[in-house]
Amino acid sequence: MRCEDVRALLPEMAGGRLHPAGRAEAHLAGCAACALEYARFRSVIEGLGSLADHIEEPSADLPERIIAGLPSGRLRVVASRVAANDQARVALLSLGGAAIGAVAVGLLWWRRTRRALGEATASVQATVGTAVRSETAV
Ligand SMILES: [Zn+2]
Repeated sequence: MRCEDVRALLPEMAGGRLHPAGRAEAHLAGCAACALEYARFRSVIEGLGSLADHIEEPSADLPERIIAGLPSGRLRVVASRVAANDQARVALLSLGGAAIGAVAVGLLWWRRTRRALGEATASVQATVGTAVRSETAV
């Protein structure tokens, strides 16, 4: 197997989702560069796994405390309805995750673009907005 073929398999191998990895494992035994890359993937995955030990369950009254902190008006009414409806709450949380992901992708794109151009312009920001929209549409 070629290095680039093995590299494509490393995330799955490191995550334990590719069994048996056969020829790829044989390649790792003879290629120091790919073995180092594999070790890096393993290290990241083990680090992420240990984070699970530090996750704490939010208290049962967290939604009410958040709602109490919102300005009164339509936003608080909508938030109260969502908090009272399990399905709506799950849908809102997944939308929030998608929005956070889109913002993160947009910021990374924007930083790379800004670095390449030297200075941000209005046209760069418009490009970032298009990139975020196309990322979220996929
Ligand atoms: Zn290799």
